Amino acid sequence: MRDVVIIGGGLTGLAAAWELEMRGIDYTLIEVKPRLGGAIRTQRRDGFVIDDGPFVFRRANDSDDWAFLGDLGLYDALTPLDPTDSQQVIFKDGTQALIDALCTRLTLGALMRRMAVSSLGQITQGGRARLGVCLENGLLLGTRAAIVTAPARYAAHMLQAITPEAAALIGYRYAPVVRLSLGFRRADPPESAREIAAPPLLSSSQVQIKRWLRVESPHRVPTDHTMMWSEIALSEPPPRDIEAFLKVGALRAWLGDAATISVGYWPESHPLTRDDPAFAAQLAALEAALPDSVVIAGSDYRGRSLAQRVAQGRAAARQIAGYLGR
Ligand SMILES: Cc1cc2nc3c(=O)[nH]c(=O)nc-3n(C[C@H](O)[C@H](O)[C@H](O)COP(=O)(O)OP(=O)(O)OC[C@H]3O[C@@H](n4cnc5c(N)ncnc54)[C@H](O)[C@@H]3O)c2cc1C
Repeated sequence: MRDVVIIGGGLTGLAAAWELEMRGIDYTLIEVKPRLGGAIRTQRRDGFVIDDGPFVFRRANDSDDWAFLGDLGLYDALTPLDPTDSQQVIFKDGTQALIDALCTRLTLGALMRRMAVSSLGQITQGGRARLGVCLENGLLLGTRAAIVTAPARYAAHMLQAITPEAAALIGYRYAPVVRLSLGFRRADPPESAREIAAPPLLSSSQVQIKRWLRVESPHRVPTDHTMMWSEIALSEPPPRDIEAFLKVGALRAWLGDAATISVGYWPESHPLTRDDPAFAAQLAALEAALPDSVVIAGSDYRGRSLAQRVAQGRAAARQIAGYLGR
């Protein structure tokens, strides 16, 4: 039996695992997907480094703790998004570098992939009260404590047997977005692409471009190329062929001219429930009702930036270490 089970292998769960490693506490991290990293997803295509998910670190947020980047040896892995603005940085090799750096430090714990946790409950094992972590294949893992970093509506089902307050998370809502990366030969971006500070461009009533960023870093784009990156809000779920769906208004020409195109659809991108006036009280009630052996963490609850995810995962691990007396 391991002391702690961490549910979810995104940035929050991996940061929690890292903190437990540094304290010599053993754990099992369970991730439903084949790969670790959660929303963080970097790919290389036609010489471009493309992040479909989390991408930009904003240094301007004073509440963010940046020291972990030094601890992970990652200061040199960063480059400014725009050479005139040192507050916004990106990873030279993509945000996956952060996940890789964390994973190389995880040697003590067991990693279980392709396995979903379905519920948590109180059990008795060898005459002792334990937490039971029920897996989708029917196996039951006994543990002393758990850190739940899966998105809220999955956490709701996991926690129902422990506390009815978890019902507040059922039906948790998100705003879906498409993240579009377009690589151009430097001469090719349409004129309007240079006006990235221009007001949002409405392409159609269903497709609203929320922002454009331009990536020029030589680490991430081939010589004589540039990359335009945008976040697009949709008013309804897109059809299967998202690229064809996006060929409206000014975007039609842009997509036609691009040397490379990457489209990432995120149905659960921006947490909406978190901004409901009643949610803070519901979350406080849920946390108060959880046993000391269970902590929830993740961007559905508080903070959202990459640095805040790391801080929250580590804080959850420290809380559990305190509970274990370590
Ligand atoms: C599209 C997108 C773009 C973002 N861009 C930025 C950005 O540019 N800058 C920034 O600072 N922040 C950004 N964020 C916010 C935040 O940094 C990320 O959301 C962060 O990576 C979230 O990490 P997480 O571990 O909390 O959640 P996730 O990455 O969602 O990880 C949760 C993990 O739990 C797993 N899981 C779910 N259910 C189960 C189960 N039953 N059993 C086991 N495992 C399960 C999932 O597979 C997943 O791997 C972005 C978020 C999104 C969604």
